[in-house]
Amino acid sequence: MSAIRETDDALKAAIEEAHLPSLIAALVHITGDAGLISGDIKPVYDFFGDGQGGLTDEQRAATKARALAALKGLRDGKIKPVPLSSDTVHKIMSFVAGAEIPERYIPFLEEELALEGKDLKAVHGLDEVPANLKHDFKVLIVGAGMSGLLAAIRMKQAGIAYTVIEKNADVGGTWMVNAYPGCRVDNPNHLYSYSFEPNHDWPYHFSTQPLLWKYFQGVADKYALRPNIRFNTEVIESVYDEAHGLWKTRVKGKDGKEETLVSNVVITAVGQLSRPRLPDIKGIESFKGQSFHSATWDHSVDLKGKRVAVIGTGASAFQFVPEIAPVVGHLTVFQRNAPWLGPTPNYHDKVSEGKKWLLKHVPTYDKWYRFWLWWMLTDGIYEFVKSDPDWTSRKDSVGAQNDMLREMLSQYTISQLEGRPDLQKAAVPSYPPGGKRSVRDNGVWLAALKRPNVETVTDGIAEITPTGLKTKDGRSFDVDVIIYGTGFTASQFLEPMKFKGKGGVDLHEQWNGDARAYLGITVPNFPNLFIMYGPNTNIVVNGSIIFFSECEIRYIQGLIELLLKSNASAIEVKKAVHDVFNDKVDALNSQMAWGAPQVTSWYKNAKGRVSQNWPWPLVDYWNATRVPDPNDYDLGGAPERQAAE
Ligand code: NAP
Repeated sequence: MSAIRETDDALKAAIEEAHLPSLIAALVHITGDAGLISGDIKPVYDFFGDGQGGLTDEQRAATKARALAALKGLRDGKIKPVPLSSDTVHKIMSFVAGAEIPERYIPFLEEELALEGKDLKAVHGLDEVPANLKHDFKVLIVGAGMSGLLAAIRMKQAGIAYTVIEKNADVGGTWMVNAYPGCRVDNPNHLYSYSFEPNHDWPYHFSTQPLLWKYFQGVADKYALRPNIRFNTEVIESVYDEAHGLWKTRVKGKDGKEETLVSNVVITAVGQLSRPRLPDIKGIESFKGQSFHSATWDHSVDLKGKRVAVIGTGASAFQFVPEIAPVVGHLTVFQRNAPWLGPTPNYHDKVSEGKKWLLKHVPTYDKWYRFWLWWMLTDGIYEFVKSDPDWTSRKDSVGAQNDMLREMLSQYTISQLEGRPDLQKAAVPSYPPGGKRSVRDNGVWLAALKRPNVETVTDGIAEITPTGLKTKDGRSFDVDVIIYGTGFTASQFLEPMKFKGKGGVDLHEQWNGDARAYLGITVPNFPNLFIMYGPNTNIVVNGSIIFFSECEIRYIQGLIELLLKSNASAIEVKKAVHDVFNDKVDALNSQMAWGAPQVTSWYKNAKGRVSQNWPWPLVDYWNATRVPDPNDYDLGGAPERQAAE
């Protein structure tokens, strides 16, 4: 924390910008007065409110006055923050969350909070494994995006030799590649950042793609990861050498030259959303105009004054349509299913200087603010997307709580479309909220659809012709440019790479279009292959993928530790453990909004199984991945571990 030197007026101005429940929490630390959280002021869980926990004007004014006095005291050396008992910290958790935090969450949230500023997730037994056991042990990491960089950091910290293979020319993964206009993160940045690399200077609450990319570039530089990354290099195939407990990975460089790299472990960190998907529409190849996918945006195409068609209204199109609508001549948006809009008034707002100041100067405020975001946007919302098996009232909700959410979100959308009954009908989804990822809205989406030069077409596309598109009702739309906002081949995990495991078994043949893994990480027959952001580790409403990656890499560290300590050459998940886990995943996913039979989305694979999503609250992933249970694994392989060349 930086020292406080500001004038009273400057302090007052900063306090005006505060998230008050977090500020009150910080005041307990600063003043030691636990009475601040046991009096009249009791924030409530106000997901749809202004975020201030429903505090009255008087309570807000009283809080600000207390905060001013405390910050002045801190500045003038009259107050010294005191350590709090863990009981008080637990009480503050419930206070800030505006909800009684269940007991089982406490250790998990204590780690998330990391009040003492330590990188608690880095602490692992792997650090303590003697250096002689780590000697000659090599890890190959595939991908230098958010997860791959994290894996590299953790390997480096643990003293394990690693090489990262990256197909792109730089780090950043999805945050490098998706450079379409308007691309920005949809998780608040104070949450969407590594837990151990907070940034109190995020310029926006939800920063734009160039800023996210810069953040990941900065992390790669800070941890000096680049020398270990081979850019412009793709993994073609990795073959497990059972006799020696080694993976032999064939990679291809930019010059087309192939090489085989040998490692004890392969960690894949290629994301679920890295391979663009073009729709299976008749005649797609025949279009004579210009066309591109959102993830391979062709910035050389000048859209000014052009007739443009956009196919898709998912998270990507939702961001670029408002950007291009004022530029193009005419825009036709082909919508199959409308997205649910989550009211987020500050979606494009800058973080005020006062807020940044508070994060940097008020002891523990940054921690409690992150904690509050965490609770609001993760497990706090979970109950709203659970299905009630007895719910038969409507198809566009899956239970009473979910229906309440549907009603609120529908009203929010309709309220923006006065005088446009056509759009009111089109813009409210017909599937339950939580069925697909909702999008963060500050009004710009519907404002774009309302523009006179924009038409929303809900009839299905029958074909693409050399000059445009035809819908099933026989209408033709001639256009100059088609932009595909049609998503990614998410359920085709790890493709187009090939992995050959024990006995030469091919991973994709084993999966047969239905990828599964234990905890999303390990697969029977594939010893020492660890997947990050693998099957069933995506979330729809509750949480950030960074959280999952941090859990996954800790677990992977544990697996490597088991391997090293046992001096085995192979660690392989037991099939029975893997199967029981997946049965549980399927059973629970079918009880969530995204598993409802009426919902179609990229979360379901071609077989209709939800292969993407984690169905439990996040606390359960944290618990399941803290330390691997040796009973879940077979340790063995070659009599003595071989050194990777
Ligand atoms: P997406 O959510 O899969 O959306 C694809 C869109 O294309 C959907 O509207 C889909 O309609 C439509 N579509 C696909 N095939 C079609 C066809 N044949 N005819 C008509 N429409 C068709 O893809 P995305 O928008 O790229 O987003 C993918 C994921 O990436 C998101 O869910 C999110 O996790 C992530 N993402 C995040 C951010 C962010 O953080 N800000 C931004 C972008 C993406 P249906 O709904 O009917 O299938």
